[in-house]
Amino acid sequence: MSLHAPVRPRGVERPAVLIDKDGTLVENVPWNVDPAKLRLLPGAAEALRALAAHGHALVVVTNQSGLAEGRFSAAQFVSMRAALRQMLLDQGVVVTDFLHCPHAPGDDGRPACLCRKPQPGMLLRAARLHGLDLARSWMVGDILDDVEAGRRAGCRSILLDTGGETVWRRTPLRVPDHTVGDWVEVAEWVLAGGRETGLNAAGWAGRPAVA
Ligand SMILES: [Mg+2]
Ligand SMILES: [Zn+2]
Repeated sequence: MSLHAPVRPRGVERPAVLIDKDGTLVENVPWNVDPAKLRLLPGAAEALRALAAHGHALVVVTNQSGLAEGRFSAAQFVSMRAALRQMLLDQGVVVTDFLHCPHAPGDDGRPACLCRKPQPGMLLRAARLHGLDLARSWMVGDILDDVEAGRRAGCRSILLDTGGETVWRRTPLRVPDHTVGDWVEVAEWVLAGGRETGLNAAGWAGRPAVA
């Protein structure tokens, strides 16, 4: 053990929901750093509140190659991130951490660093920083790169299909454990422990009844 490794008693690791930002947590507005254009996806706040209430850490993990490509400044990015945190807080959602990869992909479009999804670096870092049990954690994202990052980190993965994935390059690491269309289904699935029960024992009733 390194001299500086955090001392954490064994067996107290928490499960987490690791959350992609663009197209998953908020509507995908390419290269957006304008707080006024941040829109949470429908049901995201309610779902995240329920997941946190049941003991899940909430960690945003986002590729932000716009930083490396000079599409926005670090200061603009930090302001947007603060606004997003506040927007979530206003809805009762406390995000444990917000990690980003600031690097551009290589010329072949694949990650040139260890943190850009589909690499698992941000997820592994989150686990080290916050004592997460990745085997009991879920990666939620709108494209197969999110699914692959989750699988590479040892998580299960949920594809929240909001139309972001267009290529559908399939490999064994890019097969989600579950595919859903909205955040209500994400919360139902995670709180049910990844089983098709409809209503979990903890009482998350999911989608409100329509009169
Ligand atoms: Mg995305
Ligand atoms: Zn990176």
